[in-house]
Amino acid sequence: MNFKDMNLIEPLLEAVEEVGYETPTPIQQATIPLVLEGKDVLGCAQTGTGKTAAFALPILQRLAGRANKNPNRPIRALILTPTRELALQIFENFEAYNKNLGLANCVIFGGVGQNPQVEKLKKGVDVLIATPGRLNDLMGQGFIRLGKIEIFVLDEADRMLDMGFIHDVRKVIRHLPKKRQTLFFSATMPPDVEDLAVSILSDPASVKVDPPSSTVDMIRQSIYFVDRKNKRKLLAWLVEQPGVFNALVFTRTKHGADRVAKDLSRDGIPAMAIHGDKSQTARQNALNKFKSGDLKVLVATDIAARGIDISTLTHVINYELPEEAETYVHRIGRTGRAGMDGDAISLCCYDEFDNLRNVEKLIGKTIPESTSPWPMEVFTSTPEPRQPQNTQRGKNQNRRRKPANPKPAAPETKTENTGADAAAKKRRRRR
Ligand code: AMP
Repeated sequence: MNFKDMNLIEPLLEAVEEVGYETPTPIQQATIPLVLEGKDVLGCAQTGTGKTAAFALPILQRLAGRANKNPNRPIRALILTPTRELALQIFENFEAYNKNLGLANCVIFGGVGQNPQVEKLKKGVDVLIATPGRLNDLMGQGFIRLGKIEIFVLDEADRMLDMGFIHDVRKVIRHLPKKRQTLFFSATMPPDVEDLAVSILSDPASVKVDPPSSTVDMIRQSIYFVDRKNKRKLLAWLVEQPGVFNALVFTRTKHGADRVAKDLSRDGIPAMAIHGDKSQTARQNALNKFKSGDLKVLVATDIAARGIDISTLTHVINYELPEEAETYVHRIGRTGRAGMDGDAISLCCYDEFDNLRNVEKLIGKTIPESTSPWPMEVFTSTPEPRQPQNTQRGKNQNRRRKPANPKPAAPETKTENTGADAAAKKRRRRR
């Protein structure tokens, strides 16, 4: 199937050709006809599957039929998305596809002055892309009315809930007309997200391009067991390996992101950090440098990295494993975009075994283990298990999956092996 078979109008087909898309992705093939028909859609799709075009193209087509230049015209489509970066990216996509249509798209998000956004709104807007906080703010000030919205998109709904935006989202929904078309997208469908979907969709068509929470097949995943104190050295070593063109590194905290970026820079590796305490300009600047290839490593917290769309990102590295297993799926979905392959590497120290176990449970597979010059000390101080003959697994894989045979009960004294035994127990529990 190609875009010409999808009943898209000529100006959109030309724009799609200009951005270089040849064939619609599965989510586009499934979603575009439904949106053109006016159906509500519940889309369960990974990041990087092309879901933005899946809703943007048919929305533009539906609006294009009745274009209007009056500055007082109502906003007709609203895209609600959790982060500024994602909002900007969706806006850029709308602008690219709208090139030959002349509709007015506008993006609003917090962290920057509101005046330029208000000025743009006053000129008349057809499609508004917004983060929930700023949208509620400008609605409260009377600059935005949503009473004539025809199409509402709730994007990255699971993330929206994770970030605590549920009240803001519900407040926005209360201002929307009852009669509207609603498109609901989420990478994962935990019960609270499903509840929200049920409450705002009307007889929706379900579109699933991947089973919920599965990871994109094109991504090679691997795990390194390493002591916390050696993570810094391991990371510097990893990003210098052949084939690492660029790497997005995730840390759990803002402070951690700063420290990792500083350490890498000290080792001569161009790196910067982005997180919620950085100004929007600093974040955009780091992102632009990363996209242009001036920066090899971008270190980010989960919230700051949401929506980063770099189709040529070769590596995602989890400096720390996330506490929420679903965050792992979001993180690694930054690579392996648009049909390219990618690598997702995780660094796991002793206290993160439980997080790893939860991730593997969620994705339904065991992440293959890789080795580095800095193996975990509790592993190396444990007597080697006897290797079964003709095993297919590497030495280290056996160590993790099949820890040392339980030793005869040790006397109740502290020995050097106490940590190793605890580690072996913890690893056994992972199974
Ligand atoms: P998204 O999932 O919307 O964030 O899109 C992920 C990436 O895929 C973006 O870089 C898009 O520009 C790109 N993309 C979207 N649709 C297509 C397509 N049909 N062919 C090739 N690339 C695409």
